[in-house]
Amino acid sequence: MNQILEKKIYDISVELGTESIDYPGDTPYSRNLIMNAGDSFCNLSRLEMSCHSGTHLDVPYHFYSEGKKLDEFAVTDFIKRVQVIEVTNPIEVSETDVDWSKIRQGEGVLFKTRNSTEGLVNSGEFVADFVYLSPGAAKRVNECGASLVGIDYISIEKYGVEHFHSHLEVLGKDVIVLEAVNLSKVPEGYYTLMCLPLKLNGADASPVRAILIAD
Ligand SMILES: [Zn+2]
Repeated sequence: MNQILEKKIYDISVELGTESIDYPGDTPYSRNLIMNAGDSFCNLSRLEMSCHSGTHLDVPYHFYSEGKKLDEFAVTDFIKRVQVIEVTNPIEVSETDVDWSKIRQGEGVLFKTRNSTEGLVNSGEFVADFVYLSPGAAKRVNECGASLVGIDYISIEKYGVEHFHSHLEVLGKDVIVLEAVNLSKVPEGYYTLMCLPLKLNGADASPVRAILIAD
């Protein structure tokens, strides 16, 4: 453990309530004190949120009724080697923006885009024209045998589409989807990712505290 703490650690989570974005139509995040220590004996908060609030991961059950649920993954599935790759395309992460040969079988990949570098991911305000993972790139993620794909906005999918091709593609191969990671301070390279979800029974997703540990 001490060896880990000697390394550079990046907290790539957004702060719920101040930085996090409510996806249109989803349950907005709120935390309200229902008791306070002034009037009562303690402060006690009530949380209302989506499983997809803030930095979170999606599992196959999100789009597939028969897909793997959160509790069907091992805790070690949420600790893995990942590569951070910066993509400067301002519209999407496309097939041609990435050197796919760099992505190793079984590892994860996180795409850093202008969503992070321009501060969209932690602005607290939803914007529709965020950089998304194109369906073609999602297919390449699967062909590389990656086990996790992440992006620096609240969804990997282009906003407003009728069919969620990118989600369906990767979740159809049991790839974990990590969304709303803030990579603004993280240089490209290899890291150990820890993104432990809440231990929720039967869930389609969970908020996580995500960190990257440099080599
Ligand atoms: Zn999600």
